Amino acid sequence: MQFENLNISKPVLRALLEEGYTKPSPIQTESIPPLLEGYDLLGCAQTGTGKTAAFAVPILDALSFAQRSSPARKEIKALILAPTRELAIQIGESFDTYGKYLSLKTAVIFGGVSQYPQTKALASGIDILVATPGRLLDLIGQRYVKLANVSHFVLDEADRMLDMGMLRDVKRVIAELPKKRQSMFFSATMPPEIADLPVTILSNHVKVEITALLSTL
Ligand code: AMP
Repeated sequence: MQFENLNISKPVLRALLEEGYTKPSPIQTESIPPLLEGYDLLGCAQTGTGKTAAFAVPILDALSFAQRSSPARKEIKALILAPTRELAIQIGESFDTYGKYLSLKTAVIFGGVSQYPQTKALASGIDILVATPGRLLDLIGQRYVKLANVSHFVLDEADRMLDMGMLRDVKRVIAELPKKRQSMFFSATMPPEIADLPVTILSNHVKVEITALLSTL
């Protein structure tokens, strides 16, 4: 399997090939086609499997298509929730890398730092928001963030969010999302406390379970 066979739009494919990605990793091979078709996804996989591209590529693909039909609309269309600042930054960088030939804007927000640069970025109009749950709720409360137009939602590393005591905040964010959306849920493990989450978040979904790390392939 090659990326060329996955039906990814040309600008995204070009960015991936320039990154030196020739072959999709197992999670990418299994997740990208159903996500491109609009299914929801339950992904059991950890960092190092290539899961970020598995969700970022189909989202970029869909948003670039939507943008061609209404280019002027700068509103948050994709929301990615991540447990830590480091992971949020990494995910934001991946969207920038894979989306470098698209005119979509990504912002990353997380707590523990001044909110001003983040609210400034939000005010300039963004398409993709990567956020940790606490700061996101804070900025929703202050009306800097509106989630009414989110069409793509990713919950990344749900088990780590549980460990970090973020479950209540995550559920509050989910309650703010439009019902009609494509959702992706990723977790390396499925402790009982989060076992009901996929049921609440996902509708018509496929399940992908991957343990092989890219470094071992
Ligand atoms: P992730 O599991 O998303 O954190 O990805 C782990 C690492 O693998 C990151 O450094 C990615 O840049 C890299 N990566 C992701 N997909 C591929 C691929 N298909 N080929 C080569 N490297 C990749």
